[in-house]
Amino acid sequence: MSASRSAAGPTPSAAVRRGLRVRGTVQGVGFRPAVFRLARQAGLSGIVRNDSEGVWIELEGPPEEVRDFPALLRAGAPPLARIDALEVSELAPLGETTFRVTASREGAATAASIPADSATCAACLRELFDPGDRRYRYPFINCTDCGPRYTIVRDIPYDRSRTTMAAFRLCAPCRAEYEDPASRRFHAEPNACPECGPRLELSAPGRAALLREDALAAAIDMLRAGQIVAIKGIGGFHLAADASSEETLRRLRERKKRPAKPFGLMARSLREIEAICEVEAAAREALLSPRRPIVLLPARARLARSVAPGLNEHGVMLPYAPLHHLLLKDGPPLLVMTSGNRSEEPIARSDEEALERLAGIADAFLLHNREIHTRADDSVVRIVAGIAQPVRRSRGFVPVPVRLPFEAPPLLAVGSQLKNTVCVTRGGEAFLSPHVGDLDDRGAFAFFVEVIAKMRRLLGSAPERIAHDLHPDYLSTRFALESGLPRVPVQHHHAHIASCLAENGRTQRAIGVAFDGTGCGPRGELWGGEILLADLAGFRRVGHLRALSLPGGEAAIREPWRVAAAVLRDAGEPLDLLRRIGPRLTSVAHLLEKNVASPASTGAGRWFDAVAALCAVRDEVTYEGQAAIELEAAAGPREAEPFGFAIPGDGGASFEVDLRPCVREIAAQLRGGAETAEISARFHATLAAAVHAACSRAREQSGVHVVALSGGCFQNRRLTELCASALEADSFEVLLHRQVPPNDGGLSLGQAAVAAWRTRER
Ligand code: ZN
Ligand code: ZN
Ligand code: FE
Repeated sequence: MSASRSAAGPTPSAAVRRGLRVRGTVQGVGFRPAVFRLARQAGLSGIVRNDSEGVWIELEGPPEEVRDFPALLRAGAPPLARIDALEVSELAPLGETTFRVTASREGAATAASIPADSATCAACLRELFDPGDRRYRYPFINCTDCGPRYTIVRDIPYDRSRTTMAAFRLCAPCRAEYEDPASRRFHAEPNACPECGPRLELSAPGRAALLREDALAAAIDMLRAGQIVAIKGIGGFHLAADASSEETLRRLRERKKRPAKPFGLMARSLREIEAICEVEAAAREALLSPRRPIVLLPARARLARSVAPGLNEHGVMLPYAPLHHLLLKDGPPLLVMTSGNRSEEPIARSDEEALERLAGIADAFLLHNREIHTRADDSVVRIVAGIAQPVRRSRGFVPVPVRLPFEAPPLLAVGSQLKNTVCVTRGGEAFLSPHVGDLDDRGAFAFFVEVIAKMRRLLGSAPERIAHDLHPDYLSTRFALESGLPRVPVQHHHAHIASCLAENGRTQRAIGVAFDGTGCGPRGELWGGEILLADLAGFRRVGHLRALSLPGGEAAIREPWRVAAAVLRDAGEPLDLLRRIGPRLTSVAHLLEKNVASPASTGAGRWFDAVAALCAVRDEVTYEGQAAIELEAAAGPREAEPFGFAIPGDGGASFEVDLRPCVREIAAQLRGGAETAEISARFHATLAAAVHAACSRAREQSGVHVVALSGGCFQNRRLTELCASALEADSFEVLLHRQVPPNDGGLSLGQAAVAAWRTRER
């Protein structure tokens, strides 16, 4: 640059100062050290600090370096960070000559994003197993790239004094790391070492407590000897047991009163998993992600029968806390790691809770003195159409927000009764709670209330409205009624479709296929096999599955054979296929005959129940969805001829998908000795063909070609993939869930999206 030009304008070397406002997941993820390093490298002075909106940076130096900094920052942001917005403002130069990290500033508006809990990083793992490292075999090693976050946070902004690590005073070496912007542990809030941090303790009835390595060694010995150990983890307690010991697992099932629901597994390494399961690319990516969910994988080897009775897939995860790595390295290479609870109650969180509730289940307790502030179960994903689709969205996902396609006012959506989650909106983001569970359980309801309070506090938003289901008996609905807030009731299946639209960034009308067990229709009907034309504002029911009867009401949900009797009778078939049921069949036939105590339901889930019972796969269930899951597991080859069905009428009001032809064919096939594998495969093909036909009808009526598939039935991989491929082959655009579960665990997002959209329209 020539001297004459610089004389005409401002000198090129004159320092400028700019402010950078960074929003997103930028606290607790090593963001400030990254800024510090980048600023030093660029020769800039200034400051960086956390505040309630995220991170605030002031940069001073040559104009070009200052101007280029945002691009450097985006490229050099740490792995767990997510920059959602970056705003630049001009400031007056102060003549500073150094770059500093300054103390957090607390603000009135508390909006900073808290990061999710993240699995032990590679650098920490190396140190964990390095005999020369001062954290060698230390079960609580972590850094800014990994470790507990959401589950230890009490309040925001996120720093150590507001976490459950506040109780531990950093020793001199740990403090030095914590204060050194060049260290991987700079402001790693849970930073700790054997000198100053949490420690293990093993507690077992009738024996003196053991500490640290002794506790770990004893726990490993017990697991090897076939005993059940309750282990305190990141978001709660697990019950751990050697997965190779059928006898141990049977004892665990008996004690836990969990006869059949599959157990989650934790494997020493990816290689262990590949030895027992098929691991496709999307599954491998999910297994290795810092979220470390349980991934449901097709089984390739037989394990102890009690791991997952009646199923041909396993739910497996890799170790995500240093303690897990230590346990699996020297203990059994494959552990059952099931939630530390009794049947449906929430996962135990505090030592006292675990010692009380899990007494009689666990032979010993491996505890530690770092408190878990908020519980979070293991998340579960299943690979559907190449997507790692959440089945349960908790640890590792929470509280990372779902981005909405529009700005929402502060709202609270309270979700469903089963698989409950709640959702809070702020600006263009929706924050879902961890999995709360089934609200009939008293413990789960208490957790529901607790989690709502915590989410409100962390987001600093007082909700203006509350969105809820139409079902008057859901405890979440009652909570909404008693909240005193203006209410927005949202129909169950509309919420399912809205959740799928919202997470896919859609606001326009789509054809919604909402298939689940049961949800409440606008006039109290039992819905669950619905074809809707829906946007976020509202919906019209354009079609539905033919209603079936539920003889005995609730009893028919626990005993699928009752529904099988109902569909046989509706199709004009004799009940001979259910002769094995005995005298109770006669009384159910009576109920159906007189049409008493037999409410009508269009629920698609009930059709799975009916077919499972017709095939004698399952007559009674002990967990929700069991018959459908086992029927899917029993299915043979993908390519199967659909059975018949009919969609009578043309246009007009809501059309009906009549599955009676399918029932007649199934009955005939079974009488002819057909295999369950074939019936199941053909039934899946029938439903997919029916969905395709129903969507075609809806497209003819409306011109809409986008289809959203939602509801618990779309956890069924075969059904979802068959529907998606048939629809896509016919020029439909298909929206599937990627961020929230298709089941009721995603319902709160849909409720929030509908309520927010309606409020916005006013
Ligand atoms: Zn780390
Ligand atoms: Zn220390
Ligand atoms: Fe549902």
